[in-house]
Formats: sequence, C-alpha cells, structure tokens
Amino acid sequence: SVVPDYLAEVLGDVEPDTSGEPAGYIPELAAADPDRLGAVFATVDGKVYGAGDVDTEFTIQSISKPFAYALALSDRGFGPVLAKVGVEPSGEAFNEISLESDTGRPRNPMINAGAITTHALAGSEGMNPAERLERVVQGLSAFAGRRLAVDESVYASEMEHAHRNLAIAHMLRSHGILAEDPTAVVDGYTRQCSLLVTTRDLAMMAATLANRGVNPLSGEQVIREPVVRQVLSVMSTCGMYDAAGDWATQVGIPAKSGVAGGLIGALPGQIGIATFSPRLDVHGNSVRGVSLFERFSSDMGLHVMEVP
Ligand code: GLN
Repeated sequence: SVVPDYLAEVLGDVEPDTSGEPAGYIPELAAADPDRLGAVFATVDGKVYGAGDVDTEFTIQSISKPFAYALALSDRGFGPVLAKVGVEPSGEAFNEISLESDTGRPRNPMINAGAITTHALAGSEGMNPAERLERVVQGLSAFAGRRLAVDESVYASEMEHAHRNLAIAHMLRSHGILAEDPTAVVDGYTRQCSLLVTTRDLAMMAATLANRGVNPLSGEQVIREPVVRQVLSVMSTCGMYDAAGDWATQVGIPAKSGVAGGLIGALPGQIGIATFSPRLDVHGNSVRGVSLFERFSSDMGLHVMEVP
C-alpha cells in the first residue's frame, strides 16, 4: 500500500513546525515529550495504516467527551440527556464557566461544563461513582477494541489543580443540572480524561463512529446509528471549540481534540483518522495535528461538503 509512505511524507512536512506549547495547566502534561508525532488511518473495512509514534500512550483528555456523550445517550435516551446538555456551539473556550441563562444547561457536551454533566449521565441512574466510571471505561474500551486504563499520575496532577472544573460542577449542582456530589463527578470526569490511549486506539475509536457504531476489528456494535448521528453532528459544530468554524471550512471532518495533543476525525462510511502531537495552539488544539488534517482533507478530498 502507498498509504504508509504518504503518511510518512506528510509527517515529514509538518515536523519542522515547533510552534505552540504543551498544555501547562496540568503539570504532568507539561512534562510530556513535545516532539512526538504520529498519524493513523483506520478504514471502516478494518485496514489500519500508521506512521510515526503510533503506539506511544498519552491521555485521551477531551477526546473522551464525544464517546462519553454517546454512552449517556445510549444509557439514558435522548430526552433525558438533551434536558441537561444542549447542542449549540458556544464559540467559547473549552473551560469557559458558562451555562444557558434560562435553563442553566451547559451549551454543548464538548465544553467542560457539558462533559462534566455527561459523565454523570453515563450508566444507569443511581449508579455510584465507581460503577459510573467503570461504565465509562468499559464503553470507551469497546470503542477502542481493547481495555483502557487510567494514568494515575496525570489524574492526580489534574485533580490538584481542578479548581475551575470544580467551580463549574458546583454551578451545575446549584442549577439542579447535576444531582450528584460535584466533587465526585469531577473526580470521575478527570479519571475519564486520564485514560491512556495510543494514536492507533484513537483511530479505531473514530473508525467505530465512521462505521455506524460498529468497531471494524472486533465487530462489536458499541452504539446504535441514531446515537452516532447525534455525536458526529455535535463534533462537527462544537468539537474544536472556538476554532470550530475555521475547522469546518478548512478541514470539514467531524472532529475532536484533546489537550494532551490527540486529535480525531471521523468520516461517515469511510475512515477514522487520529493524530498525536503535544504542542497546542491558543484554542487548545494540536498545532501539527491541525496541519496534518488540513493536508489529509485537501490531498484526499475528504471535506464532507465536497462531492467525492
Ligand atoms: N481534562 C481536561 C480539562 O478538563 C480536558 C480538556 C481538554 O482536553 N480540552 O481541562
């Protein structure tokens, strides 16, 4: 196949760009090797192609959000989830302390306020925090096709500095959006964000979204098609935070970024793509990851608004 050569070539083109900085607000992430660079394509028929650091583990961070949202929709149904988390792009930073003024709902599940709420909606009502976390770990693992584990030191490092997310959770509790103990929910959400993945895992997770909710390698139906449609729609409008419009025009693939440097895109019926490069831009999106996706989209005509 020519794909690995193509991937290696594009990685080589973006490699000299050392602009941006690894996330600094989680001390353990700031210690990551900033030069790591990898990309993986996973097709819906189960072919996987990669180049660069495809097996290096890093924490999933915000890329967990669309998958936890999928689990919440599956476990609770659309109505109860939509009553607590909206689907409007916020045009704000991922950690903005903002809720809809009339309902108190977070604007969407991709910003932290929405993702903290979504974490509490995974699993069945009345689960304790450990059971809820296990549902999330098991669910995200099914997307990846292997059992994922929490990086305890990244988790502990983020929890020490989680004042902002704790403030958001307390606001949610005061509006009655969260019924649970805010500290316990942030704890579970932070563990969810601290799950270790490789670029290969992320590509499989994205490919499962691209493949109607069925993991192309394990064959497991992880979520149903209406949930896939909902998740990909929200990724396409909100997945890149306040850079969502730039992304929609330049790349045009439903996507999600994480502050550890991961980035995924899912093209329905075709392919899951993942990249890894820890230096971030001002929005918290991977600098070289965005460049890679721009190249992939234009070289291969992947923009969803283009006729293939
Ligand atoms: N755990 C991180 C946080 O809540 C995730 C943010 C991200 O990846 N954008 O701040």
